Amino acid sequence: METEEEIREVFGQLRNVMKAHKEMGLDPPPVSKEALSYVRTTVSKPLFPRGEVDYPDSLEALREFLGNCERCKLHKSRHKIVFGEGSPRARLVFVGEGPGREEDLAGRPFIGEAGALLTKIIENGMGLTRKDVYICNVVKCRPPGNRDPERDEIEACLPFLRQQIRIIKPEVLCTLGRISTQELLGKGIKITKERGKWHSFMGIPLMPTYHPAFIVRNPSRERELKGEVWQDVKKIMGRLGLGGTKK
Ligand code: URA
Repeated sequence: METEEEIREVFGQLRNVMKAHKEMGLDPPPVSKEALSYVRTTVSKPLFPRGEVDYPDSLEALREFLGNCERCKLHKSRHKIVFGEGSPRARLVFVGEGPGREEDLAGRPFIGEAGALLTKIIENGMGLTRKDVYICNVVKCRPPGNRDPERDEIEACLPFLRQQIRIIKPEVLCTLGRISTQELLGKGIKITKERGKWHSFMGIPLMPTYHPAFIVRNPSRERELKGEVWQDVKKIMGRLGLGGTKK
């Protein structure tokens, strides 16, 4: 199962890259020995550690296993690890980028200004509570100054996100913004083009949408961006058979 999932994911990522190449007018890449070796060393290895680690199969045990993590340099500046929170049986998992200042201080995901908007979407839009869903990030420690997480940091943390998803087995994943969307679907993905469309990660339907912080940072486009996010959220609700609370 594990292997099957991984293979499906590698093919999904390759498909996305080839799709992006096609859109740029490039021919499909030749599958030479060199290309295969590139995929194995550059794509497969960091994303899929070779199974030396037996990750625990409950969220509590996984959190304990993570411990006072020092697997990447982010531990030096963080205050608290932001593991993720919500229902271990959530039908929907939101994946953000990484904790901001307030999340870092509190050890909880999405509790700042962007978090308030996400909470509104969950509560006012979907008619759920934060406890009904699960909210987590690609990296569990705050990148200094809210910079983008770096490759080594993401690679150290991604196995934990994958295991969280494996444990929860949600029916739908929703990536918030460019970073989490590209980490789960592949670097060729453009959030502006692919939001609102169904994708797949680990065999789970995935809907990318804008990061709430993007809306907060663009007040002049607030109405337009919120409208687009709402369209995406409605698709998720449709898939989950949820009525929601507003038009
Ligand atoms: N932005 C994120 O991507 N994650 C958080 O937890 C908070 C802000």
